[in-house]
Amino acid sequence: MSGNDRKQYFISTRDNNRMVQFDQAVLEGLSPEGGLYHFAEMPDLSALIGGLDPQEGFAAMSARLITALFPDLFDRTKAEETARTAFPFSPVLTKMEDGIDCLELFHGPTCAFKDFGASFLAASMEEFLLEKKSRAVILTATSGDTGSAVAQAFFKKHNIDVVILYPQNRVSLFQEKQLTTLGENIHALEIKGSFDDCQRMVKEAFTDNVLKTRFFLTSANSINLGRLIPQAFYYIWAFTQLKNSAGKIAFCVPSGNFGNLTAGLYAAQWGLPVDFFIAATNVNDVVPEYLISGDYRPRRSVQTLSNAMDVGNPSNFERMLALYHNDHEAMKKDITEHVVSDETTRMRMKQFYAATGRFIDPHTAVGYDACRKYLDMHSGYNGRLVCLSTAHPGKFPDIVRQATGAEVTLPEQLKRLLTLKKTSTVVDNKLEDLSRFLEHAFPEL
Ligand SMILES: *Cc1c(COP(=O)(O)O)cnc(C)c1O
Repeated sequence: MSGNDRKQYFISTRDNNRMVQFDQAVLEGLSPEGGLYHFAEMPDLSALIGGLDPQEGFAAMSARLITALFPDLFDRTKAEETARTAFPFSPVLTKMEDGIDCLELFHGPTCAFKDFGASFLAASMEEFLLEKKSRAVILTATSGDTGSAVAQAFFKKHNIDVVILYPQNRVSLFQEKQLTTLGENIHALEIKGSFDDCQRMVKEAFTDNVLKTRFFLTSANSINLGRLIPQAFYYIWAFTQLKNSAGKIAFCVPSGNFGNLTAGLYAAQWGLPVDFFIAATNVNDVVPEYLISGDYRPRRSVQTLSNAMDVGNPSNFERMLALYHNDHEAMKKDITEHVVSDETTRMRMKQFYAATGRFIDPHTAVGYDACRKYLDMHSGYNGRLVCLSTAHPGKFPDIVRQATGAEVTLPEQLKRLLTLKKTSTVVDNKLEDLSRFLEHAFPEL
């Protein structure tokens, strides 16, 4: 295979000989032997990135990147159509304070950055399934946020049903509303058990080949390449907006499973000129620890205020290692680490509100602290430091109130939810209960 062809292919982190194109990687999710798909060879998009028109808009710019990445799968028209379907919303750049820009990623349907990945995955999966005249049932376990982004993104997609397992009484009111009020092809299963039970049931279903084949089971979790790739686009978009005003650009990424940061590393490898990345975490700091010591010691996660980042064994770390060929020193050159306590998170939310009259959510506050600390230590930094804002503060009204003493206004998307009626099926926490549900819900399969 020529070098040019290899760039459109993906290999598994656990099997270099397994090579698939983007459509197969999207439909499979995980490689059959349990590895994650990553580029067989990085494409060079530096000329395209350097020439992008900042006025063009996020969807149109994404379409150009999609065709450049996957010319075999997306011609210009198809890329434009997919990008238009996926991105009726856009990132927004604002300023936090002198020296810190804010890349707001919370203007999608569930008010968090996961909308970008989920929405593009849904649009491309629908496209691929229609072409292959096939269908899929997406099975996913959620502790709250991921599931809601997936539910919103796949709502009314053709040839796709979504079955979401969530732990009864253990998700927030907004999260439950987002999972249970859509109906149609979105099926919410309220599991009598914990999030771990939900995850175990999904895993067991995927290892049951009879079930898997009969119901065309597939996944949509954050390790799917279809979610990762579009996240690289907003780093590039931010660069196009800022490139005329400064030389260097650096990104600070509040991280949990490290999908968002990995996407940034992809953008950089495609040719986006990034000075460095800051990996900002809460006390769940296995990756910062690795960056400092070279030792990777996964462990149980600890609960924090920035709970979407409470991850003890980040799934995308395997991709980061593959990207750097296990070279700790090389990874350290590109990524600086920073760890933030809950106390500091609250303090930053309060301080930001006092200084600006605006709110930030606890995840963004972790990134904000990392930026402030970085600038304190490198006062002469003459580039632009861009902090990714991963969620709308209105998603966390209680934490915001406790930190600032003030009441955050809810975004329209969330306000509307409160008026909608919940529909769910209560199910015991055994695989046989899940398979009974599938038989009942999809009698034709
Ligand atoms: C998922 C999530 C994160 C962590 O992103 P990763 O890609 O898992 O590192 C950060 N903030 C919010 C609000 C999230 O929902």
